[in-house]
Order: sequence, then structure tokens, then C-alpha cells
Amino acid sequence: MTQVNTTQDSTRQNVLGEIISLIAANPASSENINAILKLVQAASAATSASFILFDEPKLVISSGDSDSWINHEQILQSFTAKLSDKLNINPPLIDGLASKHQNWLAAPLRNGKLDLGLLWLSFDTLPPLADTLDALVDSLSILASNLHAHESHEHSHQLTISLLTSITDPLLVLDDDRNLLLMNPAAETVFKAKADQVRGKSLREIVQSEELIALGSDETKKLAEWISPDEKTFVPRIEAVRDAQGSLEGWVLALRDVTQFKKLNRNQSEFMRIVSHDLRSPLTAMQGFASMLELGLVGEMNEKQNHFVSKILAGIAQMTALVENIQDAGRYDPESGFYELTRSHCDLGEMLRKIVDNQLVPAEKALTISVSIADNVPIINADTNMLERAIINLVDNAIKYTPSGGKVEVGAKCENNEVIVTVKDSGLGIDAQDQQHLFERHVRIARQEHKKIKGSGLGLFIVRSVAQRHGGDAWVESTQGKGSTFYLGIPLDGPNLVTAKE
Ligand code: ADP
Repeated sequence: MTQVNTTQDSTRQNVLGEIISLIAANPASSENINAILKLVQAASAATSASFILFDEPKLVISSGDSDSWINHEQILQSFTAKLSDKLNINPPLIDGLASKHQNWLAAPLRNGKLDLGLLWLSFDTLPPLADTLDALVDSLSILASNLHAHESHEHSHQLTISLLTSITDPLLVLDDDRNLLLMNPAAETVFKAKADQVRGKSLREIVQSEELIALGSDETKKLAEWISPDEKTFVPRIEAVRDAQGSLEGWVLALRDVTQFKKLNRNQSEFMRIVSHDLRSPLTAMQGFASMLELGLVGEMNEKQNHFVSKILAGIAQMTALVENIQDAGRYDPESGFYELTRSHCDLGEMLRKIVDNQLVPAEKALTISVSIADNVPIINADTNMLERAIINLVDNAIKYTPSGGKVEVGAKCENNEVIVTVKDSGLGIDAQDQQHLFERHVRIARQEHKKIKGSGLGLFIVRSVAQRHGGDAWVESTQGKGSTFYLGIPLDGPNLVTAKE
């Protein structure tokens, strides 16, 4: 740095002081730049002074007789990249730049390695230079960085607002004390509040629902559903927002609107209920008449006729089973089923023996079916019909999916305060991937060996629904090629205990 003339230095010091106080008063505002440039120009006798920012925000502010190329951002960026830090005196100009003045000073406005902009001063006669100009460049670089940070912040804030607005489900962003920072228009509608008016207020004041307040105050709490005052159904979820270091910054409460799904589900269940109910009576009548034919009550039949009647009866049995499963799947569904459990004393041993005795094994299939009930299985207080329907499905599957010559073992045991019904077969087994979704509605495994076996994919859904409605669960253990064991567990506590009722 060229160091000359100390009397002028003190004036420059004063000017610099003035500039720095202007920047300090408003560290992220571009409003003062004009005034600053005028001061710079006056103090350094420059013919022109320009402050240029390349991006976020784009800015070109000039004072005095500036050159026209100061608007050519790309050229200036290439030029700035070549400059050394702080003040450059008469640095070589690149193509596209030409100065109408004799001398020029250029200083990159940098934040680390990032070129944010350029300070350009032009002179007819280069004045003696002082360190104060270096300090000025530092201050302007800080101002440029602040403007850049402010713009980036504004930009991401705007982005967040647009994102929130575009989400059609209600969303509330809370600080770590659970006071409102932001809420989207969908949330404004549900909670009948304007974000601007309730910003900073507590979740309690905004949502006015004890359930949501409880969820908001303890993220480990789960709330399956929340019904809004205008009768819409939402699935609420609260998530912590953390900074890069993992410290808690706030919370997001999101409410997924499932009103439409609930309605569709109800309509579907209702449709299924009506259809299956109306199919039952004609099926019963058909079964009755076909049985009369089979028994020869309306005259002798030849062998071919008998064969056809047995096919008709098999078809009717299949349709009846399907109708029953459709009905059960609708009624027992833990999410949408309207079925109320009717509990009574339930002897699982007796039930299993009865089911196995009555279960029809196709004549052409040779299967060994056994029942074994552990001594410690108690009488439970359960919905006998429901349990029977679930276990029939398990035994029916074991018979359906086990090839001739195989073994089916039905049992019940008591383990870890739970009664467990087991249905084990020596069939083809199920691979681990298929096991994952087996208990979902309408899931059937597509495999060549089972191609001819009819089914609706509702049996195991019913099994799990029945278990869940008793507070338990259903699961499977299976190895490909080695058979499967299906489990239905009912916990021995609460209303399942016989003592609980008496
Ligand atoms: P469905 O038998 O009517 O298809 P389920 O819900 O009862 O419906 O069973 C779903 C699928 O699980 C079946 O399609 C079958 O592929 C498989 N599965 C069920 N039980 C067994 C079993 N014991 N052995 C092998 N696969 C089975």
C-alpha cells in the first residue's frame, strides 16, 4: 500500500468513521450505499465510485461519472476473480472493460473464497492512498456479506412459506416452547385463526383441543385420529425439528386429512355388507335344493347327474365361504369394523377339536391332522364366534396349501401370559419377503403350485383382525420348502380373563 500525506489521512479517518457508523447502524441494508459511495468519492477525489453485487441480491449502485460496463455482470465477475484481496491499483482490464478515466482502483467484495461483488473507483489523477481505504474495503465486504446472508435468509423464508402454503394438510411450526412460529392456510381454516394474529401464542391457545395439546406436549404420545370441530378426521403427527448439531429447535405438528378415505372405506364396507347379506339367502336356498337332489329326495339320479350336483354343491360351499369372509373382514376390521365383541367363556381345546372334526378335507387329499392342547391353557373370556372364524381360516389354509401326504398339527399352549393357538403344516412354506404383507387385506402369494387354489386373500386379514380385537396379534414362522406355523395370540389380561367379568 502506498503511504503518503498524513494531513489528508485524518480527514479520511473521519470519513471512514462515518461510513463504518452508517454500516453499523444498518448492517444488512442497501439503503446507505449511495451515501457511502458519495463519501468515498468525496474523500478520495474519485470521478466515480461503484458498488456492484453479483447475486442474492443483484445490485449496481454508482456515484459520479461511471462507466457503462458496470452493468455487465458476467464480465465483471471474470474480472473480479482475477483480483487479489483488498485494493488493486490499475489492475489489467479484460475484454469488454475499458476505462474512460486514467486510473482505477478495484477491490473484490469477498466472503472467504466467494466473490460477492466489486468496489470500483475511477480517477483522472490517482490520489495518494492510505490504509483507510483498505479498512473501507473490509467494511464494504462485511456489508456485502450481510446483504447476501439476509437475502439468502429471505429467500429460504419465502421458500418455506410457499412450501407451507402449497401443502393442503394443516401444518403448524412451533418453537421449542411450543409457541407458534408459522401455520399454513389449511391450519388457519381448521383452527379458525390467522397466522399473523396468533404468532407467538401457545399451542394450547390455538388448537383448543386437549388431545392435540397432550400430543404436542409429549412427542412419545400417539394419537390415532383427531376429529376437528367441523367433523373432519385427521391423523396427527408431531415431529421434532433439530439443527445440524442435533439440538432441538422446535416442533412441526402435521395433521393428515383422512376424511375422504374414511368416507370411502365406510361406503365400501357398507356396500360389502349389503352385497354379502343379500347373497346369503339365495345361497342357502340353492344349497338346500342341491342337497335334496344329492340325497335322492326328488328322485333317483344317475352317476353323471350326481357328479354334477356335487360340483354345484362344492361351488356353493366356496361362494358361501367367500361371502362369510367378506362379511367378517368388514365387521372385524379393527379400523373400520362396527362389530361389538360378545364375550363368553371360551374353551379353546374344545373349539379346536370341533373345528378339526368338522373341517372337510378333499377326498383326493391324504393329510394327517392332529390336535394337541397343553394342560395350562385356561378358559378365556372371548368372542367365541369370532375366534372360531379365525381358527377355521387357519386350519382351512393349512389343508388348502399342504400337498397330499402332508401333516397338519393344530394346538394351543400358554406362554408368557398369552394363550397361543398354533396351526402348523408341512406344506411349501412362505419366503420371508412374502411373509411381511401376508396379513393384509386381499394379499395372496402368486406361486405356480397354488395356481388352482381359490381364495380371496381375506382369511389371514380376518385372523389378525380377530387377534387384535382381543388385544393380541397373529404372526407366522415359515421356511421355504419346510412348511409354516401360524400363530394367534390372545393376552391373558384385562377383559380376556374370565375373572375380569365375574
Ligand atoms: P386366501 O387363502 O383366501 O388366498 P389368506 O389371507 O387366507 O387368503 O392367505 C393369504 C395367502 O397366504 C394365500 O393366498 C397363500 O398364498 C398364503 N398362505 C396362507 N396360508 C398358507 C399356508 N399354510 N401355507 C402356505 N401359504 C399360505
